[in-house]
Amino acid sequence: MEIPGDSETQIGQRLMPRLTSSCPVPVPMSAVNALGAAIEKLKRDRNAVILAHYYQEPEIQDIADFTGDSLELSRQAAKTDADVIVFCGVHFMAETAKILSPQKTVLLPDLDAGCSLADDCPADEFASFRDQHPDHFVVSYINCTAAVKAQSDLICTSSNAVNLVQQLPEDRPVIFAPDQNLGRWVQRQTGRNLTLWQGSCIVHETFSEEAVLKLKLEHPDAEVIAHPECQENLLELADFIGSTSKLLSYTESSQSETFIVLTEPGILHQMKQRVPEKNLYDVPGIDGCSCNECPYMRLNTLQKLHDCLENLEPAIEMEEELLHKALQPIQRMLDMSR
Ligand code: SF4
Repeated sequence: MEIPGDSETQIGQRLMPRLTSSCPVPVPMSAVNALGAAIEKLKRDRNAVILAHYYQEPEIQDIADFTGDSLELSRQAAKTDADVIVFCGVHFMAETAKILSPQKTVLLPDLDAGCSLADDCPADEFASFRDQHPDHFVVSYINCTAAVKAQSDLICTSSNAVNLVQQLPEDRPVIFAPDQNLGRWVQRQTGRNLTLWQGSCIVHETFSEEAVLKLKLEHPDAEVIAHPECQENLLELADFIGSTSKLLSYTESSQSETFIVLTEPGILHQMKQRVPEKNLYDVPGIDGCSCNECPYMRLNTLQKLHDCLENLEPAIEMEEELLHKALQPIQRMLDMSR
């Protein structure tokens, strides 16, 4: 089944907002519904489960069995009894699902759905960095490749990074990789002096401070809520800092009626469902573009989700040894964050 307009050209247009300020072409609802029905049938036939990150397009979040952040999705991948996991997210997330469920078929609708932050930490350069700090305990944010996970002692997510670092012996020096912004925030929260790898996410580094200040002037009662991958100058403007799932729950628990949301705008789909009566504003990038979306996440489309379920590819394949080595620090994270 083909969805109208879901061609490489349209995918190109989805990436273009970062460059030209043009916006994605909406897909007709009738086509979305027909494709959704076909996906549901394939899902039953394959005994598959669909996991979707909060940064996916709304139609993908709506058809998923489970929507969540990296930690929540890892837990779901670890406990599912489905034969096939379709991971609607980016490559390192699907790899993590495969590491946790190596006997299952793990599909990623578009294998090119990578991550600038993971790319910022090549495994060979990271190995040299570790060699320069042989006495350090290595904590890596889950947004890294399996090859970097395999070189780490502990994996963390933005939900549990502070808690996990606080559990480490105080006299042990710690490397934190690959996100320097998250690392600096963890450093401030824990009072630990971390040796930081200098990586960052292209999406969270594009938010405009000027745009936040302008939104604050327009909505003086609004609370600014931010993901810790944002740069320090933006975090200083935030009333609340937390992982994607914590930002979501904060909009529910806070008395505030209005929020300026400093993270990938895909999260607004879930927020609008949970707090439909509240006002939510995403923040444009430095160039003024309002399409401040992760271009990698947007490579996955409903059509590709359908096709990967039909063809059972592209699937994540990994060497046995890498699977085994990368599992240890992830399992430690799951055990320590229970
Ligand atoms: S938003 Fe940033 S960290 Fe998340 S997948 Fe996209 S590039 Fe990677």
